[in-house]
Amino acid sequence: MKISEEKQSFHSSSAEHCLQLLAEGIHTVVASTVDDDGLPTTCAIDIMDWDSDGLYFLTARRKGFHHRLTARGYIAITGIKGSDTMSSLAISVRGKVEELGKERLDRLLRKNPYIFGIYPSEESRKALSAFRLHEGSGEYFDLSVRPIARIGFSFGGNEYNHGYEFMIAESCTGCGLCLNACPQGCIDSGTVPFSIIGRHCLLCGRCADICPAKAIARRGDNDDT
Ligand code: SF4
Ligand code: SF4
Repeated sequence: MKISEEKQSFHSSSAEHCLQLLAEGIHTVVASTVDDDGLPTTCAIDIMDWDSDGLYFLTARRKGFHHRLTARGYIAITGIKGSDTMSSLAISVRGKVEELGKERLDRLLRKNPYIFGIYPSEESRKALSAFRLHEGSGEYFDLSVRPIARIGFSFGGNEYNHGYEFMIAESCTGCGLCLNACPQGCIDSGTVPFSIIGRHCLLCGRCADICPAKAIARRGDNDDT
């Protein structure tokens, strides 16, 4: 699927579209876990399957990645598709992880036969174990469209909690200063108080910096760039 086709089909904005794109369109992602010292550690993994409950991948039981997964029970991943920054979309997901049985491992191997080139014998494949990322939330971020597209989603019964939003309060006077400051033109000035169109917002915070009425505040508990 080409990116332009992905954009058209994405506008249903479904979590399932993002999970499918991660598994079948992006496939190799950067995964972040936390080690025994409480420090973040990243590695590249392949998302080998998906369904409405989550994302599936495998690793070897003796790897540090396996230890971090089972010790902490959480993972965050980011996959990027595009040839450079301005043509790229990124999907970030975080959620719980659970180790699965042999049946799911066999399915992952059948669906991703290139693994047989890395673990060629049945004996060597006994080192492998399958995992599911579930009860997760995520964000789709597309820098290749104008204004940019940023849409949150969740799956597996989880609430969307992947970030913060800037909100304009009743104390907005309608002075209009934020309209020039916003790099994406995503502030709706139709009525006072003005409002921010969240799906196009970069979360840069410039509007909050310059608002003389201090009417714009950040709501949420996470941070990113
Ligand atoms: S700068 Fe602040 S007070 Fe002025 S229009 Fe924007 S939100 Fe309202
Ligand atoms: S946070 Fe940045 S992109 Fe979002 S509305 Fe404010 S100025 Fe615009």
